[in-house]
Amino acid sequence: EWQKVLEKTVGIIHEDAVKKWIAPMIPVALENKELILAVDTIFTKQYIEQRYLVLLGDAVQQALGAGYTFKIIVDPAIADAQKEPSAQKEAPAEKTETAEAEEESAPTQGSLPLASEGTHAPAPDDATTLNSKYTFDAFVMGRSNQFPYAMAKAVADAPGLPAHNPLFIYGGVGLGKTHLMHAVGHKILADHPEKRVLYIASMDFTNEFIRSIREKSMDAFREKYYNIDMLLIDDIQFFAGQEQTQTEFFQTFNKLRDSGKQIILTSDRQPQDVKDLEDRLISRFAGGAVVDIQPPEFETRVAILQKKAQTEQVDIPEDVVTYIASRVDSNIRELEGALTRLIKYASMMRMPIDETTCVAALGNYLHGEKGRRITMEMIERIVCTHFKVTSEDIRSTKRSNDIAYPRQIAMFLCHELTEVSWPTIGGFFNRDHSTVIHAHKKIQNLTESDGATKALIESLTIQIKGI
Ligand code: ADP
Ligand code: MG
Repeated sequence: EWQKVLEKTVGIIHEDAVKKWIAPMIPVALENKELILAVDTIFTKQYIEQRYLVLLGDAVQQALGAGYTFKIIVDPAIADAQKEPSAQKEAPAEKTETAEAEEESAPTQGSLPLASEGTHAPAPDDATTLNSKYTFDAFVMGRSNQFPYAMAKAVADAPGLPAHNPLFIYGGVGLGKTHLMHAVGHKILADHPEKRVLYIASMDFTNEFIRSIREKSMDAFREKYYNIDMLLIDDIQFFAGQEQTQTEFFQTFNKLRDSGKQIILTSDRQPQDVKDLEDRLISRFAGGAVVDIQPPEFETRVAILQKKAQTEQVDIPEDVVTYIASRVDSNIRELEGALTRLIKYASMMRMPIDETTCVAALGNYLHGEKGRRITMEMIERIVCTHFKVTSEDIRSTKRSNDIAYPRQIAMFLCHELTEVSWPTIGGFFNRDHSTVIHAHKKIQNLTESDGATKALIESLTIQIKGI
């Protein structure tokens, strides 16, 4: 199977890259349509995932069929297997020997600096891959984040400069801290593919550290962290109270900082406000550039939504963008969530992406009414969706109960939720005003006698109001 995939990479991934990175991976299993590929180090894994995730995914699907995916796992024994497929050595050779052996067997080693690492580093890996979506290109700059953005750019252009080493970015949840730090990582790797950029959440660092103590693999742990070119460490507020981890991190930090390796830290608050953080760490963290990231203002929220819609290749009318941007205002993750949800909902329900759909899809995503006006179209749309009838049906002369009941519900809601007069409601549904009054009265009575109708009215009202 793997051979088939490799053949399919022709024309998808550059031949040299296949030779260097893809072909050396070792297929270990094919389970549940997932091809498991092993590599020797986390850096190889990261490198391949950062560059070839999508392309390799395409090749896998073309070779094996739709629905097939792949996963890369790290197995330090692979390096040996690659060299001596028949006689797999038990323990990796000592560091210098391994390096030499590799030089001999792999003349391209100079351009493959990652591959020589890790044959002797069985450290457990909690480092996470950079998210391929978190690039500078995908980052929308506005007043709220222009400073952190500029700093991140500066760091990407000149990593390690004392003036911005470390770079400390702090701010509330969902405002783009992780995105920015990944963007720096991507830029560094794009400019210098051989650089080792390591991203890790502070909690994973803690876990990895604790495990290394337990498994007596501290050497490997340090080996790993001392040999990277850039450390991205996320959400360091979780170092709070972790004394031993702080001590270890202090050493890692100094080691890297002293050798001019860039460090980027994020936190939900500024260094001096992180609880139970040693003073010496606070002063280190604050010793470079400290920047805060603020909630996006309206224009930035609009721009973010537009960008996201563009990425998703979906047309979103301007009024819908404005509508969402004015109601989801504190957190970019939620802003994106709202848009994703709207797109999914509209496609599932086969509804156009407009304000009505927005209200139906987003409901309590949106806080407050903020001057929103409920229209008869909105009501009609939501009622139609609920009963799976069309607007033509509702406005037609049909009198069968499966149409008449939804029509009466819609009329009732129009009177309840808008300021529109009886005749105008009648006009909208092609009825005269007395029919509307009659319908209203009937539903009114039903809500008093029939629990189901009452519940229905309540649920539709919530959807329409979007509360
Ligand atoms: P934080 O780490 O501050 O909690 P994230 O970096 O995880 O926030 O950002 C949350 C989501 O919002 C991510 O999907 C990210 O891509 C997106 N995002 C944040 N800021 C921006 C921005 N300025 N432009 C585009 N997308 C952004
Ligand atoms: Mg984050």
